[in-house]
Amino acid sequence: MGSLDQACLTGFICRICCDLNKIVIHAFSDEADKIKLVHLMYDFLGVDVYLNDNLPKTVCLACAMKLRTHYEWVQMIRKVKKNIDRRRNSDSEEPNQKSEHS
Ligand SMILES: [Zn+2]
Repeated sequence: MGSLDQACLTGFICRICCDLNKIVIHAFSDEADKIKLVHLMYDFLGVDVYLNDNLPKTVCLACAMKLRTHYEWVQMIRKVKKNIDRRRNSDSEEPNQKSEHS
């Protein structure tokens, strides 16, 4: 996982909030790649970023952090749901026929 402040540039429009920001992350930088920025923008916001269109390819730190927080929140929810599903499944089985545990 790369750190957000390693990917900073100055004076660009954020692709997500459209504000002009002094500190942004370029969507196709190595640092953005490490935090899967383009992937998260598409998955959670439906925003497609292409290298060869005329739209901004930078994201401000505030949006990048919100996106990251949202991603971690969704991951947590998925993990909890998995645990609940597993518990529910093992509860419905006979006590000596529990599925294998890792
Ligand atoms: Zn922004």
